[in-house]
Amino acid sequence: MSDITRREQTNELALQFGNAWNYAPSREGTEQVSLKPRYELFIDGAWTAPKSNRYFATINPATEETLAEVAEANEEDVARAVTGARAAYDNVWRKLSGKERAKYIYRIARALQEKAREFAIVETLDGGKPIKESRDIDVPLAAAHFFYHAGWADKLHYAFQGREARPLGVAGQIIPWNFPLLMAAWKIAPALACGNTVVLKPAETTPLTALMLAQIFQEIELPPGVVNIVTGAGATGAALAAHPGIDKVAFTGSTAVGKRIQQALAGSKKRLTLELGGKAANVVFADAPIDQAVEGIVNGIFFNQGHVCCAGSRLLVEESVHDIVVRKLQDRMRTLRVGDPLDKNTDVGAINSKMQLGKIHEMVAAGEEEGATRWSATYDLPSKGFFFPPTIFTGAAQSCRIAREEIFGPVLTVLTFRTPDEAIEKANNTMYGLSAGVWTDKGSKSFYMAQRLEAGVVWANTFNKFDATSPFGGFKESGLGREGGRQGLAAYSEVVG
Ligand code: NAP
Ligand code: MG
Repeated sequence: MSDITRREQTNELALQFGNAWNYAPSREGTEQVSLKPRYELFIDGAWTAPKSNRYFATINPATEETLAEVAEANEEDVARAVTGARAAYDNVWRKLSGKERAKYIYRIARALQEKAREFAIVETLDGGKPIKESRDIDVPLAAAHFFYHAGWADKLHYAFQGREARPLGVAGQIIPWNFPLLMAAWKIAPALACGNTVVLKPAETTPLTALMLAQIFQEIELPPGVVNIVTGAGATGAALAAHPGIDKVAFTGSTAVGKRIQQALAGSKKRLTLELGGKAANVVFADAPIDQAVEGIVNGIFFNQGHVCCAGSRLLVEESVHDIVVRKLQDRMRTLRVGDPLDKNTDVGAINSKMQLGKIHEMVAAGEEEGATRWSATYDLPSKGFFFPPTIFTGAAQSCRIAREEIFGPVLTVLTFRTPDEAIEKANNTMYGLSAGVWTDKGSKSFYMAQRLEAGVVWANTFNKFDATSPFGGFKESGLGREGGRQGLAAYSEVVG
């Protein structure tokens, strides 16, 4: 019996006896987490009621229950935060040596590690992602980002080949809901390391871990005003980007809002970095290790419910292995556990918001109308909360919306190709260029593809791997500038000399 036949028989058995392989529930306890009923703005090192006098609720998307009330910052509140950040920049932070700044950043990293469990639970409660991801990916990577940048704070001279790097001043930072703590770390850590101060606006649906980070800033006695956190919705973000006291805007979010910010900043002194949307191609060649590739495809699109800017949402598979890849993918999808994000066995958790769930439904309906074939396994979805079953589309034309537009949900569109150059042409045929994946047994083919794919990150025989030392960012309409690595430091520095 060949290896492949044996493996297929094993798969058949697994499917036949699927129920016997189910796990008992293993729910992460929430006892050690104490959320406040209401969170104020974090300005100048203190909790401050908003001048707007308005609060909004942040909910748990898996249960639709309110977790806490959060202050909504208006223009006046944003202005107060910018004034605080400016004073901290002029009077304290820019005067500290890199070595002293590093000490604070190391403290933040260590405190985050100490409270890792609490952060992971709150990230899951507030955003809906599976606990195994917030515990094993979001929180450790966020801490790693602070450690990594703490290391640079007194070595910036070496980052720029002996040239002097000066801070820019006050950075206004706006982040999305898909990696709330990690995006806060991506923004705050390099800004502080390079000597800037910060006003950060978290997303409306996921403000809690950024506010917990503010508690850490108080505990480690970060000088007041060095980081300010203004919660609110899009209008708060717009007020922050537009404030004349800001020297740099760093935005992660949708391409549409990114373009609006770019227009608003045109002609101003403000520096800008944008991390925007994506429609990544995951390219699978016939010579790829198919089982590993299937695991990578699943990770690429169903990880974090597909709420990933660099999600592998287009599968480009070599025509000769299309059927076997799709069949193995379907087998694997049948074994995914979808449901309670707090359960340690859950693979796919809750969609972040009702609005996002609506967008996914709309795109999936468009895919069906355009004639693509929709397939999903049967999942026992919870009756409350926002859930969407992992779904694939086959037989889609390149021109279909599901093959071109970002869905930002657990929905994969499968396309085929015959030659490497056809794969490159199809992969690059998009306004985006954030990431791509290549699966092949041949190293030379990986390099050939990586050199031609228009994407900021190309993964070979893996997908969705992140590291603080590695620059991340987009080609084309996926963004401007890089975050992480030595390159990311340039986004917060004026290099002189
Ligand atoms: P979004 O609507 O653009 O929101 C991103 C952030 O901007 C949120 O904090 C949002 O506030 C705020 N915002 C909304 N309107 C604004 C305005 N006019 N001016 C200033 N700020 C404004 O994006 P999203 O739907 O939350 O996030 C998903 C998108 O982010 C996807 O397109 C995804 O690809 C992209 N993303 C990219 C990366 C990357 O690194 N390239 C990483 C993660 C996500 P509210 O949420 O409170 O409305
Ligand atoms: Mg929430």
